[in-house]
Amino acid sequence: MPKGTQRWEPSPGIRMCNGRLPDGTPQPLYYPDDHPVSPGLFKGMAQILHECGLFPTNRNLKAQCGNSLSKCPPGQSVCCCRRILYNQVDFKEQKLLLQELYESAGHLCLYYPKFHCELNFIEQYWGNAKYRYRETPLTTNDKEMIDNMRDCLDTILRWNR
Ligand SMILES: [Zn+2]
Repeated sequence: MPKGTQRWEPSPGIRMCNGRLPDGTPQPLYYPDDHPVSPGLFKGMAQILHECGLFPTNRNLKAQCGNSLSKCPPGQSVCCCRRILYNQVDFKEQKLLLQELYESAGHLCLYYPKFHCELNFIEQYWGNAKYRYRETPLTTNDKEMIDNMRDCLDTILRWNR
């Protein structure tokens, strides 16, 4: 492990998947369990960059410029370990765990761009469902209320097909 490297460990039982070396072979991000010094521990950003041949040999590199990538100087691509890793193809292509889970179940995972939450599709859906529910006959029967609510939600789904 390079001098000055900090150790970071994810929650127990949760491990990041392998990266990829420049030649395309998998790059484990953790030392092997039989490693003499750091068995099973996260290698750290500097070690990962060394293995990829991306760690600058002519100077030291800080772990990160601040608490987020936005703290890196504008236009810099080699200011810190975090920025260099962020720009690597295997890191860029890595999907979120939640997205991988959805897609493995055969679903499509869409992310909306950041905008006001009231413009989100689900708000239009809920708004329409509430409107339709207000049009249903009044009742104090729980089963009828649940049935009316389900009918309203189903009507919107049928209408959108
Ligand atoms: Zn930086």
